[in-house]
Amino acid sequence: MNSEQDRAQVVVRLDGVRKEYGDSAALDGVSLEIRAGEAVAVMGPSGCGKSTLLNMVAGLDRPTAGSVVVHGEDLGTLSETGLALYRRRRVGMVFQFFNLIDDLSALDNVALAAQLTGSPARQARRRALELLDELGIAGRRNAYPAALSGGERQRVAVARALMNRPAVLLADEPTGALDSRAGEQVMDLLIDLNQIGQTLLMVTHDPQLATRCASRLIEFADGKVVRESALERTA
Ligand code: ADP
Ligand code: MG
Repeated sequence: MNSEQDRAQVVVRLDGVRKEYGDSAALDGVSLEIRAGEAVAVMGPSGCGKSTLLNMVAGLDRPTAGSVVVHGEDLGTLSETGLALYRRRRVGMVFQFFNLIDDLSALDNVALAAQLTGSPARQARRRALELLDELGIAGRRNAYPAALSGGERQRVAVARALMNRPAVLLADEPTGALDSRAGEQVMDLLIDLNQIGQTLLMVTHDPQLATRCASRLIEFADGKVVRESALERTA
């Protein structure tokens, strides 16, 4: 890690995080830090706890033990309402299967993210349109998800995740359901976002996604970090 990164603010800090489901531990003592401006890829075999890790950072679920601090907020101290506000305001999440709302247009899917935080509808729609424009899909703003290609759906999902200017953008296998060309476009988009300062934490099975997009790789096995390494980005 260079000295510039040393000084950069820690955006995500996990300390001794354990998550049990029944008798087994999906996360077994995970400690890690992500600094402002980093793009971190998490890799590891299926079932090793990658999605559970992202869900902890997203505040979608609570650890059994240990602490998760994001943007200075210790999630363990938040009430359910506080955690719901945190999810809407501090993090953006992109999933493998997009998770768009079928009966809302692309624009409304994106705008909804801001309306849920109390932004007036007009303002939310204006920002949503700006984002769709930056992501190159403003022309598809009135289309419903069923009419969009996979790559377009994922770009809408990225726009939605960015609406509230998240401290960290979380992406769980964001190219996993896309063909290689659409996957590369989404990769390029993530790289562009990181280059303008967006902190990224992504889970992937795809070594190409990791080496092209990420500045650091965290390898997981059996709910534990087994290796961390800096990457030379190839993009
Ligand atoms: P990955 O994303 O690396 O494939 P997951 O984080 O989804 O792995 O899962 C890690 C382990 O935790 C798996 O054994 C999985 O079956 C289990 N698990 C994940 N979520 C739940 C849940 N909601 N209830 C019960 N077990 C779960
Ligand atoms: Mg997963």
